[in-house]
Amino acid sequence: MNQHDVVIIGAGPGGYVAAIRAAQLGLNVACIDDNEMLGGTCLRVGCIPSKAMLESSELFYETSHSFAEHGIEVQGVGLDLDRMLSRKNQVVKALTSGINALFKKNKVTRYKGRGRIDGPGRVLVQGDDGTVELGARNILIATGSVSSSLPGIELDGDRIGTSTEALSYPQVPKHLVVIGAGYIGMELGSVWLRLGAKVTVLEYLDRILPGMDRETADEAFKLFKKQGFEFHLGARVTGARVQGDQCVVEREGGEPITCDRVLVSVGRKPLTDGLGLETVGVATDKRGFIQVDGRFATSAAGVYAIGDVIGGMMLAHKAQEEGIACVELIATGHGHVNYDAIPGVVYTNPEIGTVGKTEEALKDAGVEYRKGVFPFRANGRARALAQVEGKVKVLADAKTDRVLGVHILGPRAGDLIAEAAVAMDYGASSEDIARACHAHPTLAEALKEAALAVDGRSIHF
Ligand code: NAD
Repeated sequence: MNQHDVVIIGAGPGGYVAAIRAAQLGLNVACIDDNEMLGGTCLRVGCIPSKAMLESSELFYETSHSFAEHGIEVQGVGLDLDRMLSRKNQVVKALTSGINALFKKNKVTRYKGRGRIDGPGRVLVQGDDGTVELGARNILIATGSVSSSLPGIELDGDRIGTSTEALSYPQVPKHLVVIGAGYIGMELGSVWLRLGAKVTVLEYLDRILPGMDRETADEAFKLFKKQGFEFHLGARVTGARVQGDQCVVEREGGEPITCDRVLVSVGRKPLTDGLGLETVGVATDKRGFIQVDGRFATSAAGVYAIGDVIGGMMLAHKAQEEGIACVELIATGHGHVNYDAIPGVVYTNPEIGTVGKTEEALKDAGVEYRKGVFPFRANGRARALAQVEGKVKVLADAKTDRVLGVHILGPRAGDLIAEAAVAMDYGASSEDIARACHAHPTLAEALKEAALAVDGRSIHF
């Protein structure tokens, strides 16, 4: 039996980062994953390939829609989808093999196979060549999540599929129906819309991007409609099936829609099947998420869990923070995650970057706040880029001025939100951000200006 200080099940962003950090802390670490490629959903069929396709499709779209404004004349713009898809695959391959190298460098032992807890301190790895038994002083479950579906939807793994299929359609669909206007629906819907598909989005709620700041999401909604998305809000999908060479999507209170592909993006659920949780008594909640305490400890001694499998924000960077905090707690007794300063990014055009409380949440909680807004159309760099849609909104406590939330819709919002996240992690006031010198001309000045606007002192608006 191979003995390890920590055995981590799952090599997604939560698991592999935890493995490297644990090794840095001097622990003898093993990481189990049954996929040849390390990196989990995020690297293989999630964050990374979707960003590669978003970038390529954006360039394709811009070439025929924005270049003329810059005085660039391009004729005969064509699409080589095979090449676009293979570039995406190359990006994924380079990054996953990078994790292999990091494991070697940090002396993380990698086991390929399915990990299963077999009793206290024991994990079995079921690989192609048989079963290996590991002894584990600590077990960390980082198995992530899988796509959810809906009753009545017949996923065929091809035309009616999830994000995995939508990252690799071999042809641009003529008509793609997206079920669910969340992160995945808006990002992958954008990819195929830019490449020429008609995209119809069916969303159960009366808004897109639930959970995001409402004003910001509503403004994005208007821009997405202008881009050509067709939305049906308040549309509860009751079924989808393949019929001949078409798909039919049924919804309550509306005509069925016929299309040639369906993307089901209605959320994700925890992945715990076959993990042997019952062998040690790891408790899950009603929805199947593993229950943990503030130190990521489950109900079973020596068994910890982090990332999507414990619920909360299902984001790669949240899993990474938890993975690091968990192994630091195991190794040193100290470690924490600041859940008030975890950013969220939707990589549409424009992007949406958000951190902290939404305006609705502050109102619901009866918190008195001040609000500063600055539109990108008043920002010099945004003008030069010809990307003037959107705005920055800073929400600060009315009494203390502490920043409680920042919501950005606009160019590179995903990068800009980092400054707000750092500021909030340090407990900054809006005045702190406003007084810090920001280079000119940059998009980041829009955040400074919105912070100034909290106190009615914006210079350029
Ligand atoms: P989501 O939770 O973001 O959105 C799901 C949407 O489906 C919701 O708007 C919901 O109201 C809608 N819906 C549910 N049932 C429906 C029905 N019967 N008919 C119509 N609409 C229905 O989920 P997702 O987009 O599938 O993404 C899954 C997870 O992956 C998310 O939790 C997200 O955090 C993560 N993710 C993040 C990123 C990013 O960080 N940029 C990108 C992709 C995915």
